[in-house]
Amino acid sequence: MGVRFPLGAQMHHNMSNNIKNKHSKIVITDFDGTLSEKLVNGQKVPGLISVLMSEPGIDKNCLVEYEELFNKYHPYEQDINLTLDQKQGFMLKWWVEVYSVLKKYKVTEKMIMASCDSPLVQLRSGVKQFFDYCNNLCIPIIIFSANGIGYNTIEYILKKNDISLTNVRICANILHFDANGQYASTKLPIIHSANKIGETLIKNDFVAPDQDQTDCVLIGDNIDDLKMSEGINFNNVIRVGFGDHASVEFTQNFDYVLPIDAGFEEITGKLNSQ
Ligand SMILES: [Mg+2]
Repeated sequence: MGVRFPLGAQMHHNMSNNIKNKHSKIVITDFDGTLSEKLVNGQKVPGLISVLMSEPGIDKNCLVEYEELFNKYHPYEQDINLTLDQKQGFMLKWWVEVYSVLKKYKVTEKMIMASCDSPLVQLRSGVKQFFDYCNNLCIPIIIFSANGIGYNTIEYILKKNDISLTNVRICANILHFDANGQYASTKLPIIHSANKIGETLIKNDFVAPDQDQTDCVLIGDNIDDLKMSEGINFNNVIRVGFGDHASVEFTQNFDYVLPIDAGFEEITGKLNSQ
């Protein structure tokens, strides 16, 4: 078990008020490491695309080129001195080049879907109950993912876990395949880590910019996930983070920090207890 950060008194107060008040609710959640487990058998699980690259059917050179791109672009992703424009340029180039690699090595839809069945890919406990709870109360859920093979895989994994998608929308990269089932293209705009921000949800009609009658429950596992509501005028945002460790960065920026291996039971329980 990870270290649990108790819900602070102030936060508890805020959350209670939010639940009791008349504002409607919306959930915006990350996928990799948030809805899916970040640790399986004590091992850190990489993002879905990295799981795909480790599949036995994938050409070894495909993995080599994918890793070269990671080594080239990841430092830009981490560079706090870049402007948002610069970072968005690098992140877009990164995904465009990764997609060229998928095409070059004829990665198929079948291989991508098979990677979703890897034992490394598991939803956190209580995710289905959380989705059912929100569905019953007509609370919309937006899954926001910058993972390269996003939409297709997320939809597959949710359906596989018998989760209703009635109240769920997925803002993530949609891949298209040719008649042979090989990767062909990605629907534009490409979602990457630097445009995984509220503004992208507005531009793509997932939410209206003015949501002042709505409280947002934002759930992520990375400090950058906080940007998923950036630019949207919500009445209030409750930030829930699955923490990596006893990180001050987490406890200072998320309202509610759960251990890295926690389930969704506590979030559902908190919403339901008011
Ligand atoms: Mg994540």
